[in-house]
Order: sequence, then structure tokens, then C-alpha cells
Amino acid sequence: MTTTSAKSTGYLDLFAFGLDTDALRSISVLDDIWRDAVLQALPERDNDPVLKEFIEVSSGLVLFLADPDWQKYWLAAWHKQASRGFRLTELMTFFYRAVEICEHRILGTDRLVARLNVDLFSLLRRSVLAAVSATVELDEEARLAESGIPGELAALQYLHQALKQGLPVSLLSVSLINRNAFAHLSAGELQTLPALFAERLAHRLRPQDLVFSGREGEWLLVFPGVSSMVQPSLAGAHIQQSFAEPIRLISGRSIALDVAMGAAMGPEHGADADALVQAARLARWDLARTRQGFGWYHRDLHCDWQQHDELAAELKLALHQESFQFYLQPQVDINSGVCFGAEMLLRWQRENGEWVAPPLILELLEENGWRQMFTDSLIRHALRSSAELEAAGVPVRLSLNLTAADMVDTDLPDMIAQRLETWQIPGDRFMIELTESAMMADQIRCLSVMERLSDLGIGLALDDFGTGYSSLSYLVNLPFREIKIDRSFITAMARSPDSLRVVRTIIDLTHDLDMVPLAEGVEDPAQLEQLRSLGCDQVQGYLYARPMPLAEFIQWMQARPA
Ligand code: C2E
Ligand code: CA
Ligand code: CA
Repeated sequence: MTTTSAKSTGYLDLFAFGLDTDALRSISVLDDIWRDAVLQALPERDNDPVLKEFIEVSSGLVLFLADPDWQKYWLAAWHKQASRGFRLTELMTFFYRAVEICEHRILGTDRLVARLNVDLFSLLRRSVLAAVSATVELDEEARLAESGIPGELAALQYLHQALKQGLPVSLLSVSLINRNAFAHLSAGELQTLPALFAERLAHRLRPQDLVFSGREGEWLLVFPGVSSMVQPSLAGAHIQQSFAEPIRLISGRSIALDVAMGAAMGPEHGADADALVQAARLARWDLARTRQGFGWYHRDLHCDWQQHDELAAELKLALHQESFQFYLQPQVDINSGVCFGAEMLLRWQRENGEWVAPPLILELLEENGWRQMFTDSLIRHALRSSAELEAAGVPVRLSLNLTAADMVDTDLPDMIAQRLETWQIPGDRFMIELTESAMMADQIRCLSVMERLSDLGIGLALDDFGTGYSSLSYLVNLPFREIKIDRSFITAMARSPDSLRVVRTIIDLTHDLDMVPLAEGVEDPAQLEQLRSLGCDQVQGYLYARPMPLAEFIQWMQARPA
């Protein structure tokens, strides 16, 4: 087998992980120990040929990582495992455990060897990462290729044509409800779900009916030529019926799915394509209130919508008057106890005194096309706050939350650069937090925006890590400096060994990639101690302080021992 060129042989980009021929040669001394460790770390299931094959291939990782043949076997073996519901985090955890076993073995027998090989285990972990990261990308590609259903734009075009020609047309907006109940499904199971879902739908439609994919988790079913409520209602009932039976996943597990369907008819319920789609969605959203699975659009819905509109109007005013506030929550160095930064969190109180949850505000901003205006005001606010902090003698770093759309806005870096210039504040006083979904949209444009922000000295943090797709390629290909471990893992850590292992894996992985981990939602001293023992560097949470207004934050800082 060839192991000469270790750059981008075959399917894996080893170079991106800092693995060259020398690095691979140096870890090959671990081959024997690795093989044993894999056996020990991977779950045992007697007489399971797929798992056996996977273990066999995995045990060759140290020696054959750069070999295209081995890579091919590895990817095939992984695909088989994934389709049976083997999760990525599980995979990472097992392999990191294998590395740990190797580490322990060597440390236990020969301290000198261990000291000589300080970087050896980091190299080994990088090798594991390199192998795993390619598998994720391939899975993603396969998933996209598989679905192949035309999107919302195509639906709008079709509806536009039909309405223009005066043809009647009906529409269903369909979505899976209770999506949270899917949280316990594995990545493999989740990936196959849309295909199974589409398959069930297809059985219930006439040949001339059309299926489009709408927003995330939404399908738009179009019934050409249908001007009565009968056909869509019938289809709705059939679909509902077919979902009464649990779906059998590839893993063999069965789950019960519920659907929500909103129906609308053109031109009665909407004279143009946008209005018609909107009407069907309104009908579907209303089902959350009535707890039914199917409903037609009716005029009263517009009254609810009116409340929604009032909220939006008030929001618009707040945007123009800049009456939003941003509270600050301290971020603390775990060893020194020093507060080095704060996260800016949006707060908005309505005229009637009600506080509106930040995610709802963001949704409204996005929906109405005000996001850019909001981002602009957020950045202005950040600079002003930073100057105030400096004047108060507490020039800490500020973390800003930006969204997916901000990251493809190629004017953003220039806008920020100008502001930094005006205020004479160095870029490294700011950090930008992004969630994984923020990077899914358009990685290339994202990358260029992120690189230009980095050039300004602004740090980038990956927010809510562990909750999304956790595609490892983001970590390697995008210039992140910090990883924020999601609160859900920190909360679960005390009672779930699995979560503890995930936290440990994320911390090790972050260090291997020369980044800094920050644990979110730390609420009690026991969590803090646990994080300290795992080597986590930074923390944030109610244990230190809740988010508070700028003036209060300054007092809080000034009251702390230096
Ligand atoms: P996030 O970025 O993950 O922010 C952390 C959330 O956890 C905040 O909720 C914070 O108040 C809360 N939190 C912090 N420490 C603890 C703790 O120890 N225990 C518990 N239970 N919660 C804690 P918040 O302020 O309600 O914000 C919710 C989300 O809204 C944020 O999640 C972020 O995604 C979004 N968001 C908030 N402000 C902005 C903003 O200015 N721009 C953007 N794009 N998104 C924002
Ligand atoms: Ca955040
Ligand atoms: Ca977060």
C-alpha cells in the first residue's frame, strides 16, 4: 500500500488537518496499541458483521490513513454504520476514547516515551478527525442529491403562471409537527426521514399533482385545476391517515409522525402566488393553536395576523428609534477567574411592558426584511458600548451574535472596518458568534466574509456547538478561534456519562485545532469544577451573572477584585 503523498490523497484532505508524511510516519509507531484500543473502545455486539467490518477497517487507520484504497473501505464501512443509526458524536466519542486508551497505555508503561511524544496523541486525534470529517461531507452531499425536489421558488413560479392564466389551483403547506420529538433520532435516521416522508406523500397524490420543498421541514403540494375544497381535503385526510401508522426507519426503529397541513385555494384566498402560499402557511400555523392536523385558510386568520402585524409595526418603530437594549453577560477565564469579555444579548420590551423573546424578534426582523438594518444598529451599539467600557476602565471584549444572512453580506466587513476607524477601537475588542446553521447557506461567501473580519482582528466563535450538524469541516476550513459548547451538554453532564464524554471530546478537539473552548450555561459550582478538570478554558452562565444592562455590568466589573 502507498503512503507516500499524504497531501490530498483520495477522499481525505489530510493536509487541511496539518497531516503530512512525517506526521503520519510518526504516528505509525502506535499501530499495535491503536488496534487494541479500537477493539476496546468500540461497542461490542456479538455476531454483528457490519460492526465487525467497521472495527476491522477502523483498526487500520493509523497505518493506512493516506491510502486511497483504505479510505474507500472506510467510507463504505461508515456509510453502512451511519444508515443503521450510528451517530457522528458517538463515532467521535468512541475514537477519542481509543486515543485515550493509547495514551493511558503508553503513560502507564513508559513515561519517557510519553514525554518524548507530547504531540503524538494530538496528531492521532487529528488523524481521526481527518477521517471522520470527510464522511460527514459525503453524507451531506448524498442527502442533497437524494432529495432532488424543486424548491419554493419553483412553486411560486408555477403558481404565478397558473393564476395569470386564470386557472384555479389549490395548495397545501405540509410540515412535520413536534419536530423536537426527533431530538433523540440519530443523524442517519434523520437523514433518511425526508425521503420516507416524501414517499408517503407521493402515494396520496394524483399523477398531475406537484410536490415542492418549501422552508425547512416544509413541503408545498400543488393541485392544478382544483377549484373545490374536496380534492385538497381528501388528500389531506389520506395523508393524515397514512401518517397514523408509524414509519419504520432503516435502523429498524419505528416512530410515529404527525403532520400539520394548511390549505388554501387560488384565487379566492390569494390573488397572487405569494399571497396564496402565505394563506396556506397561515392556516398551518393556526393549527398549533387548535391542535388539529388539517385546516383551511379563512378570513379570521387575518385577525391573528393583525396582532402579528401590530407587533411587527411596533418592532419597526423600535428599530427606527433604536429602543432595543443589549444586555451584557460576563465571560470568565476558568483558572484566573478574570472576566475578559461579555456577550451582548438583545432585549426588547413592548409598550405594554411585555418582554419579547430574542428568537421571536429575530424571526420578525428576517420576515420583514429588516435584518440588515438591525445588524447595522447592533454594530453601532457594540462600538458605543465598547467605548463606554473603555472610558469606565473596563475595556473587555464584546461578543456579538450575527446570523446566517449577515455572513453572506459582503459589505459587512467594510462597514465594520469604517466604524472601527471612526471610533478608534481595535478589532480584537470584538468577537462574532455564529451558529452552524449560519454557515450552511453559502460556505464560499461566508468564508470570504469571515476571513475579512479575521483580518480586522475580530475573533470568530462557533456558537451552540454540538446541537446542529456538527460538520467538522467548518472547524477546519473556517477561521474560528473559539467554540461555545452548548448549554444542553453542560446541564446534562452531571447525570449523563454520555454528555460528559461529549463535553470532554469537544474540549479535546478544540484544543487539538488550536482553538479555545467556552462552556455556556454554567449554573452551579459542581459544573464549574467538572469543566475545570476537563481542561475547559472559559465559562459563561448564571453562576457568575445573568445578562444585565451596560451600566450594571460596569458596576459589576468594578466591584470585582482586580
Ligand atoms: P445564545 O447566543 O446561545 O445566548 C445564550 C442564551 O442563554 C441567552 O438567552 C442567555 O440569556 C442564556 N443563558 C446564559 N447563561 C445561562 C445559564 O446559566 N442558564 C440558562 N438557563 N440560560 C443562560 P437569550 O438572551 O434569551 O437569547 C436567546 C438566543 O437569542 C441567543 O442564544 C441568540 O441565539 C439569540 N440572540 C440574542 N441576542 C441576539 C442578537 O443580538 N443577535 C442575534 N442574531 N441573535 C441574538
Ligand atoms: Ca451566542
Ligand atoms: Ca449559545
